[in-house]
Amino acid sequence: MIEQHDIAEIGSVTISRRKGTKNIRISITQNGTVRLSLPNRISTKRGIEYLLTKKDWVAQHIVDQLNLDDGAMLGATVLRLHTSHSNRIRSVHKQGELHVFIPEHMQHEELQSKLQTASKKCLQKQAASLLAQLKTKSIEARYTVSGSSIAFLKSRWGSCSSKNEIVINTYLIQLPQNCIDYVLWHELTHTKHHNHSPQFWQELAIHVPNYKNVKKELKKYPTKVFDGREFLVYV
Ligand SMILES: [Zn+2]
Repeated sequence: MIEQHDIAEIGSVTISRRKGTKNIRISITQNGTVRLSLPNRISTKRGIEYLLTKKDWVAQHIVDQLNLDDGAMLGATVLRLHTSHSNRIRSVHKQGELHVFIPEHMQHEELQSKLQTASKKCLQKQAASLLAQLKTKSIEARYTVSGSSIAFLKSRWGSCSSKNEIVINTYLIQLPQNCIDYVLWHELTHTKHHNHSPQFWQELAIHVPNYKNVKKELKKYPTKVFDGREFLVYV
């Protein structure tokens, strides 16, 4: 059971119940939604009281949401930060880890901007697999694609031109597989229906029967580099 509460000091909070647990858990999703997960023995009222004692932590983590730190998940790659004596930042991407060596006295903002750049490169490498997946699907369902590429798009997850050229947002590689599948099928379906007509949705439903839910889920994610872990607090 999920309840939605609006709490003046915090905003919209989603409350859910978990069986077999003793802990209250607070987490913040990528779009800044606060989730409160309660064991059965704790009332909603007590849960909210507890959440209010953590409101400074919540506010700070909503702000930090897009900051990158050691252990951040960039798609399937773990970010590892190291302090370096050199005065240049350096990064090495291998075996599912992106190691970044940071000069000791680098300022927070400069560091974040450098980490964003290194992370984008790392996502770009991983995103090649999106095009392979697109190809497999197009063959499987016999859609004709005249060209495909990836790019960092600011507000869309993908596009399909009137000539059936598909562009997939590189940031998509950070999302769960069901969201990736949805976007790929969405663009492939556009090669037949260049609009969002009922026929378009009907055909998309053949590939993604629960597309309405996935479409909603997709809204949670920003078209930016983000830390794939959720922030968690345990009592
Ligand atoms: Zn569309």
